[in-house]
Amino acid sequence: MTQYAKSPLMGQMMDQPLLISTIIKHADRYYGSNEIVSRRVEGDIHRYTYRECHTRSRRMANALAKLGVKIGDRVATLAWNGYRHLELYYAISGSGAVMHTINPRLHPDQIAYIANHAEDLYLFFDMTFLPLVEAFHSKCATVKGYVMMCDRERMPAETKIPNLMCYEDLIEANSDDFEWPVFDENSASSLCYTSGTTGNPKGALYSHRSTVLHSYASAMPDALNVSSRDTVLPVVPMFHVNAWGLPYSVPLTGAKLVFPGPALDGKSVYELFESEQVTFSAGVPTVWLGLLTHVSQNNLKFSSFKRTVIGGSACPPAMMKTFRHQYGVEVVHAWGMTEMSPLGTACTLQKSHLDLPEDEKQAILEKQGHAIFGVDMKIVDDAGEELPWDGKTYGNLLVRGPWVISKYFKGEGGDVLENGWFPTGDVAVISPDGYMQITDRSKDVIKSGGEWIGSIDLENIAMAHPAVQQAACIGVFHPKWDERPLLVVVKKPGVEVGKEELIHFYDGKIAKWWTPDDVVFVDALPIGATGKVLKNCIRDQYKEYKLPTA
Ligand code: AMP
Repeated sequence: MTQYAKSPLMGQMMDQPLLISTIIKHADRYYGSNEIVSRRVEGDIHRYTYRECHTRSRRMANALAKLGVKIGDRVATLAWNGYRHLELYYAISGSGAVMHTINPRLHPDQIAYIANHAEDLYLFFDMTFLPLVEAFHSKCATVKGYVMMCDRERMPAETKIPNLMCYEDLIEANSDDFEWPVFDENSASSLCYTSGTTGNPKGALYSHRSTVLHSYASAMPDALNVSSRDTVLPVVPMFHVNAWGLPYSVPLTGAKLVFPGPALDGKSVYELFESEQVTFSAGVPTVWLGLLTHVSQNNLKFSSFKRTVIGGSACPPAMMKTFRHQYGVEVVHAWGMTEMSPLGTACTLQKSHLDLPEDEKQAILEKQGHAIFGVDMKIVDDAGEELPWDGKTYGNLLVRGPWVISKYFKGEGGDVLENGWFPTGDVAVISPDGYMQITDRSKDVIKSGGEWIGSIDLENIAMAHPAVQQAACIGVFHPKWDERPLLVVVKKPGVEVGKEELIHFYDGKIAKWWTPDDVVFVDALPIGATGKVLKNCIRDQYKEYKLPTA
């Protein structure tokens, strides 16, 4: 850790470490009767309060201590968004151990790789993942025992999983007489592996300090804007960058929490929104696509839904307009990454924007937005030289801040920082007033005749066409230009559109030479473990594609 200069006159404030356990203590003390509602894997709806969550977290902390879990040990989970998962967030990290959330959508071999790399000591899993755990447990060398997150009646009569325990038995057998330990705020609190589209996944190891600071900053009005008057439904999974920090920032504010469990289809999410009167939610665009399709096909409206954060990949402007104009739901476009805990920017309007014409407001809101306080960003060229914030020049986006990683777990990938900045792998422009817009992931940029074409712009235009459900744009080989854009499109059900019409749809909307050379229609796009379109798979699929212009 960097040593900073010491002033001869130090401040005289209490030295209290920022610890995750203080969040659940606060929620219990001041919002103890506020609800946490979960759609369980068992199929029913479970309700209890922050106070009960805190009590059960302390019981689980006692259980972990009896199992021999010590400060710094890693304990893994394979679980959906639900109350038991939340209890583990606090029981594990609050005891000083490291909460390691594993993405169950990964291949079993990748899960085993991650569990071995992390040297997980125990693994907790939702009932639905029993077959998955049976498939990979024999490859996990360090795991001493497994805990199925259910009650005794639902435990399997027979299993090959060694030392399989029952979650509710552990809760019942332990008292809630537990004092959260106090330790250095820089201690590791949780571990999350990157999606690893190339090579093995790498671990981002968060600390108590980074998590508490991220929670403060992300709850602010021009970020997620969560308050005790909200009802928050995190659609983003608790195994994807800690559900963007919501399991910490929501209890910190005392808002009611609603967990959707495994039912993430449009109908189930909509029903929960309505029955629990959800005001605020967060998720990747693919989930909202399912929700909006359900709502529009059934002529429904939202009776309480006011605001949603969309991020993880670019929010198509057409989706934002539908939310805003058709349903009166405010959209906050946010950007971040696993390595940033994840929040880096959020896009909201400032006072000076409020009287602008609607299309100008919309143009601002489509950007990824301002850095939230704590995050510092800059754009640089390939030589590392800083580029101007003029809204036109695009460059590699670098960040730094107290919740940005300084290295990957166990030093994987070596020294990843560039002069103290973390290279995000994204390409962006920044306007003079500090609004950042991602033009592409550097690997996805289309390089045509020595110039760059941003694939996100091309996709956003296609998705504004009334017949297009989803679109991805990739560069394919061209003998003269190196690469030219190919548009891959999923049509909306029952609507027709042809290649020529889509290509003409770009007229006047972008520079002529950016227009895709060709369009292919497919039934579905490949979606990865975190709900994002897998561009690398599409590129592989169309590696040999011959463009009509080639
Ligand atoms: P992950 O670590 O899986 O959350 O992925 C982080 C990456 O997702 C970023 O580096 C971006 O490439 C992409 N991403 C996240 N949010 C956005 C956004 N709002 N717009 C465009 N790309 C995004």
